[in-house]
Amino acid sequence: MARYIFVTGGVVSSLGKGLSSASLAYLLQSRGFKVRIRKLDPYLNIDPGTMSPFQHGEVFVTDDGAETDLDLGHYERFSNISAKKTDNITTGKIYSDVLKKERTGKYLGKTVQVIPHITNRIKEFIRNDIAKEDFVICEIGGTVGDIESLPFLEAIRQFSNETGKKNTLFIHLTLVPYMKASDEIKTKPTQHSVKELRSIGIQPDIIICRSERSIPLDQRKKISLFCNVAIEDVIETVDVKTIYEAPISFNKEKLDDRVLNFFGIKSKKNVNLKPWKKITKLVLNTNNKVKIAIIGKYVELKDAYKSLDEALTHGGIANNLKVNLVRIESDNLNLKTIKKKMQGVSGILIPGGFGKRGTEGKIAAIKYARLNKIPFLGICFGMQMAVIEFARNRLNLKNATSSEFGSSKASVVGLMSEWIKDGKLMKGTDKNLGGTMRLGSYDAHLKKDTKISKIYNSMRIKERHRHRYEVNINYKENFEKKGMIFSGLSPDGKLPEIVELRDHPWFIGVQFHPEFKSRPLSPHPLFSSFIEAVNNKSKK
Ligand code: GLN
Repeated sequence: MARYIFVTGGVVSSLGKGLSSASLAYLLQSRGFKVRIRKLDPYLNIDPGTMSPFQHGEVFVTDDGAETDLDLGHYERFSNISAKKTDNITTGKIYSDVLKKERTGKYLGKTVQVIPHITNRIKEFIRNDIAKEDFVICEIGGTVGDIESLPFLEAIRQFSNETGKKNTLFIHLTLVPYMKASDEIKTKPTQHSVKELRSIGIQPDIIICRSERSIPLDQRKKISLFCNVAIEDVIETVDVKTIYEAPISFNKEKLDDRVLNFFGIKSKKNVNLKPWKKITKLVLNTNNKVKIAIIGKYVELKDAYKSLDEALTHGGIANNLKVNLVRIESDNLNLKTIKKKMQGVSGILIPGGFGKRGTEGKIAAIKYARLNKIPFLGICFGMQMAVIEFARNRLNLKNATSSEFGSSKASVVGLMSEWIKDGKLMKGTDKNLGGTMRLGSYDAHLKKDTKISKIYNSMRIKERHRHRYEVNINYKENFEKKGMIFSGLSPDGKLPEIVELRDHPWFIGVQFHPEFKSRPLSPHPLFSSFIEAVNNKSKK
């Protein structure tokens, strides 16, 4: 039977609940258990797909096509378990499911209420789609005390009561601040946060204390006494130098031991921390650096490209290099300003994006990369912009554009209306903006003797997608004549998946998002190859 671990957060947000849950998942998995991780988000959007990255950071996409919270990316990167649609839910989705049932008369005669209808739906989500897992870790988004989190906390309280207290463990992650003025570590915010949690009926079993510096025994004792947990269950997590150290540090603090102790089960295997130690050492000690420019619209917010930043770091790990990123806002960029900004930069990356703003700057940067033989990787929107640049400057289609920016006679990138998924015809729409994109994992067939087939060392690949527009296949021949090869296509040959330049050391555009599948312990080949090319360029 599965055992359930609920992770809540207190005092402030951004304490690293996702990273803590992901690290715990790795440790339990490494000890021989089957683990699943889920995220319950209190906001009202049905999924984060319609939110701007400024609001909520990156939208992570799963193989089965769910647009989810970026924490699921952490989970995948640390545990290597591919997340599913059934691993992320929001208040919006819960209410929408309940209201749909109400309209079809499923609760006929009853008053539909938060308790029991909403809380029942939450519990159903927690229990759903579990097969042979030893542990299900559920992270509750938000902070204890938020109005929005309440139904979730009530639901997990009920869940524990129904499933048995011995089968459900509550972990609470809080902040233990250090006050410089008095040179003291303060436990009061943690006490208040636990008090808040207990007022809802949840007694935490383990408290993870996020702190700038190590928490002295006296303060640990205080937390133990006031919060009613054993001293061994007050676990500290002091800021780590790199996130790859997190599993090592949680193991050192005995988090996995305490979890197993709670459930009264023995480890099946010894934990293996070697791979994390190896990459931590590498990331912290390497002196070789390369500089890459990321040109986009959401550059000020780091979380907007979380998986991408991670994948580039992984590419660096594969090449024993530190990757420094220069984030450039594309809005006011033109050929003149680019040259200045490219000092010391040996690679250009244009990530996914939406809308016309800033596109001319991106197109100018692509032209610069193409003409100056600078390694270039265009992802999704980045590939579409590379195709537009090539059409304008090499095919002489001066008004080449994408129909995303308005109707045009020269839409080298157009709205995709139909595509095949798992043998079924899918139809897109431009009216309804939620969940109407080509989403999730799709196959691509690669062309022989191309850069991309050598990089993947395979002729068939599967990558994750998230887009509405597509490069127009009808231009294929014209592009190829001038040196832009359509080196990957959908299995039916209708949708261009990859383009590359024949006469350029490394210029590749991909319609999918390879960053979602890169892992620190197994870097994605496309990023490893890109960083290698960037490194070669930097030596010239
Ligand atoms: N806006 C483009 C499209 O919908 C690209 C999307 C993306 O980069 N993820 O096709």
